[in-house]
Amino acid sequence: MLQPFRVLTIYAVATLFASCAINAPVFPAGEVCETPAFSVVDGFSGARRGTCTVLSDSHVRLDILPESSGKINDSPWYAFKLSSNSPMTAKISLRYRGGHHRYWPKVSKDGQHWTRLDPQHVVSSANGRRAEFEIDLSADPVWMAGQELITPVTYDAWNRKTAKVANMPIMVLGNSTAGLPIYVFDSNAESREVLFLVGRQHPPEVSGAFAFFAFAETILGDSDLAQQFRARFRVIAIPLLNPDGVVGGNWRHNLGGVDLNRDWGPFTQPETQLVAELLEDLDARDSKIRMFIDFHSTKENVFYALPDVTHPPDFIATWLEAARPRTAGYPFALTQGPASNMTIAKNYIYERYGIPAVTFEVGDETDRNVTRTAAKVFAEELMQLMLDQEY
Ligand SMILES: [Zn+2]
Repeated sequence: MLQPFRVLTIYAVATLFASCAINAPVFPAGEVCETPAFSVVDGFSGARRGTCTVLSDSHVRLDILPESSGKINDSPWYAFKLSSNSPMTAKISLRYRGGHHRYWPKVSKDGQHWTRLDPQHVVSSANGRRAEFEIDLSADPVWMAGQELITPVTYDAWNRKTAKVANMPIMVLGNSTAGLPIYVFDSNAESREVLFLVGRQHPPEVSGAFAFFAFAETILGDSDLAQQFRARFRVIAIPLLNPDGVVGGNWRHNLGGVDLNRDWGPFTQPETQLVAELLEDLDARDSKIRMFIDFHSTKENVFYALPDVTHPPDFIATWLEAARPRTAGYPFALTQGPASNMTIAKNYIYERYGIPAVTFEVGDETDRNVTRTAAKVFAEELMQLMLDQEY
């Protein structure tokens, strides 16, 4: 038997839906989705919620769609904010359109500190097309997202902090399609030997961003090794190449609907054109990129590289094997094969320069502290190995 309160609520909702078309229980993306008990908001940087259908006071269904129609990488991003006036348990069903459940839900009370949602509150269908989460709400809002929200605001804070430690300016390489600044760290610009790092071409690939942060902090840090390294090598590091995609909560593309990591060579987008100009400038100075690393995320920890017939030979395998005894908590593979698509960053750099180029892929759910610790080791071993080379 229904409790009186429950009956009243259902009656009130039914009356509302019947009498007022604009309060229909389906809310398009970008509109606050309200049930009598809680709301689901997507109006913030990095959000993606899709159409919200109110199934009951405490239950909504969200249709999670990519930013572009047609085939797109299976990385269905979602991020939204939940609010309630009184304590309750909200049920959120995700219906994936064009993808499969991939990211374990993370929750946060301030949008900055995140925890994984308790497994007993997460259910996904066998075919991966649906997922259901339960979350306790009280007076304070809760953010829920596929990964931690690491947006341009996060990068701005990290950039400032890192620039201060490194005692170097953070510069603007240029602007994204939407006009957002794309920042670059550039140390010791007089040196002709270059280490080139790129991050976040793909918006949902947040675990790779954690690796980028720790890796770059180590290279740009104040250890003796880092200072010695930067005295010899120029470090060019672009933390966030696709700010528009991150702000838009995209699965894959930039604002122009292009996968930036399939646009090295064609360089059709403002973001990749900035890279093309940078490479032209390096060539004009007769600079030599010694190593190129592009940070991403996938299902597990893996480094993708070309066959090590680069200058110097076997460089990537040597580097990673040097790090392996020090990264026991971070199991990883090295997959080396012929370049399948020349417009992927690492393939393009390898083709153009014949140098070691690698995609540093971190598992979606790899523990963040383990990732940071390992990335620091990879950075230290790389610096040592590059310093050992006479080239
Ligand atoms: Zn990627």
